[in-house]
Amino acid sequence: MRLVYLLFSALLLVSCNSSRTYVMSVQGKLKPGKLGPTLVHEHITTDFIGAEKVKQPQYEQDLASSTILPHLEALKARGINTLVECTPNHIGRDVRLLQSLSERSGLNILTNTGYYAAVDKKYLPQHVFEEDAATISARWEKEWTDGIEGSGIRPGFIKLGVGRGPLDAVEEKLLVAGIMLSKKSGLPIYVHTGDGAAAQSEYEIISREELAPERLIWVHAQNGTDAERIALAQKGVWISLDGVSATRVDQYVEMILALKEKDLLSRLLISHDDGWSVENQKGEISLKLFGNGNEIPYRTISEQLIPELKKRGLTARELDQILIKNPPKALGITPSSRKVDR
Ligand SMILES: [Zn+2]
Repeated sequence: MRLVYLLFSALLLVSCNSSRTYVMSVQGKLKPGKLGPTLVHEHITTDFIGAEKVKQPQYEQDLASSTILPHLEALKARGINTLVECTPNHIGRDVRLLQSLSERSGLNILTNTGYYAAVDKKYLPQHVFEEDAATISARWEKEWTDGIEGSGIRPGFIKLGVGRGPLDAVEEKLLVAGIMLSKKSGLPIYVHTGDGAAAQSEYEIISREELAPERLIWVHAQNGTDAERIALAQKGVWISLDGVSATRVDQYVEMILALKEKDLLSRLLISHDDGWSVENQKGEISLKLFGNGNEIPYRTISEQLIPELKKRGLTARELDQILIKNPPKALGITPSSRKVDR
């Protein structure tokens, strides 16, 4: 009888734990099942002027809303329900705009905390070079516990950026800072990654620091090889093929089929990496669509990639796995007594 009771208690604990898992959007906590079809790596506005140069955002919110809202409404009409916005702090992250666009479009939108060290450290604030990993991690933790810039809006993931591998000392310090926060909060870590060697280096650091490989999302895994993607996916790392472009649909199909061949679609995330950049022509501010091969943003996956994958034999179930089942697994946060969760 006692054994039955213990078994029952254990089962109850397991089910309670999983039902406590949530995803953090700019409008607050969401049940993982509410994400629906998700684009895991897109942008709304970005500003590439460099860290600590001007006060951001440089545009009026009305300009951004009138430019971008129709595309978000069209995306929602195509059946996408959640957009993960990957613009980090100091590259134009604008959480109030994201919250307003989420409310108006009906899309769930996620934002992030963290710093981007790729591109010659141009997007890092000065304190990164002076502070240790724990101090930097505490800055991000404050965004997690108290909200970003007084808005009350909380990050749904940690976003970092590194160049080609192996990681240099600053990149490694920021990854360690991210790992510290991930352990406390349960937030996953997205790392913009220059090549497969850098991804391998990230994996080695998170293994050394004893963070589960499932917490690491290899952003821009299209910059690696099939062999590198397969090796890290087999270890549990998320493979994010996130630059789907109308000019390179065939290449994405081949990369996805190589993962399917090894039964690794359960580790795959896909997206376009579309968005707008802030242009400042002598004080005249405008927003320009990224020129990455998608003339209309956020559309190539629905209209070109998925039909092509179906032709090449992917089933509806496999497509649901990639677009619906995987994102909440990658983004799910399960509170525990060790984690900071107010
Ligand atoms: Zn991006």
